[in-house]
Amino acid sequence: MIEIDGSFGEGGGQVLRTALGLSLATGQPFRIANIRAGRSKPGLRRQHLTAVRAAAEVGDAETAGARMGSGELTFAPTDVRPGRHRFSVGTAGSATLVLQTVLPALLTAAGPSSLTLEGGTHNPFAPPFDFIARTFLPVVNRMGPQVTVELQRAGFYPAGGGRFTAEIEPTGRLEPIELVERGRERGRAARAMLSSLPLHVAERELEVVAREPGWADAERTLDIVDDPAGPGNALLLEMAFDNIVEVVTGFGRKGLRAEAVARAALKEAGEYLESEAPVGLHLADQLLVPLALAGGGRYRAAALTEHARTNIEVVRAFLPVGIAVAEPAAGCVEVAIGADV
Ligand code: ATP
Repeated sequence: MIEIDGSFGEGGGQVLRTALGLSLATGQPFRIANIRAGRSKPGLRRQHLTAVRAAAEVGDAETAGARMGSGELTFAPTDVRPGRHRFSVGTAGSATLVLQTVLPALLTAAGPSSLTLEGGTHNPFAPPFDFIARTFLPVVNRMGPQVTVELQRAGFYPAGGGRFTAEIEPTGRLEPIELVERGRERGRAARAMLSSLPLHVAERELEVVAREPGWADAERTLDIVDDPAGPGNALLLEMAFDNIVEVVTGFGRKGLRAEAVARAALKEAGEYLESEAPVGLHLADQLLVPLALAGGGRYRAAALTEHARTNIEVVRAFLPVGIAVAEPAAGCVEVAIGADV
């Protein structure tokens, strides 16, 4: 039985989700203790429990400790079951993080899958739907599978109520990929999403973007959410290159001025543009699991977050694959994965 210390490294939900994803994909059972011990409300919360239940359904797994607040979990998968599944967080907890948990195993499953995921689709501290669609999945699809997602309704904190679907056409085996250069820039775009809030919120955000050097020519879209479940606002900034599309997100919240939301997103975009590395900070942690399952690959990021370093250790607990981290230049980290690294 693989033993994982949930308080390790970043000490949050990521340790659990990465372990669940790898357990499903490799068929190895694991036990995790000290779940989210580093957080103010430790243990399994609704969003994590949904990920556990989703993984248990896909993996026909036996579990012990899968309840709210639990600090320990044992998870033993017996199978990988592609097909139709519906996973609902039931709160505004992130539905994209539930996808992140079950996706690795379904990428190489015996048949296609059709998933419906409900909950938050645009949450702070989680990949927004657009990041999954535009940044993460195009890279994953280069490894052989074909995954498409469709947003049916945006869900924001605190009301949730979002829904998207994922169609997964698996591949026999994941192919290693290299992502070390961005290639030429193809264009920028800004999209302000607005749910049950006054129009001027999104207009002011887009005005700040229009005034930012380098963003005057960017395509700007104001996207009013149909059939909203509750208030919400996100500003998505997209930077497209030959080899990668990076999406950074500013999240609106009560008490935070629209201008500040836009400036925070532009600051993050500026940091990405300043570095030459193709892989942004969030993609850098999310690529580790698929590449480790492919048994090889290489990518460059501006830096590795604590999330990424934690994921590397969880991967090492499940897979014998080598992972080497080098710094070929200042402000550039190269991650190489393979049997011989
Ligand atoms: P906890 O509840 O314990 O704080 P969590 O379950 O909310 O943890 P984290 O451990 O914080 O989750 O992991 C969040 C994941 O979401 C990471 O993979 C991170 O890269 C990703 N993420 C966070 N913000 C963004 C963003 N703006 N764009 C893309 N991905 C993001």
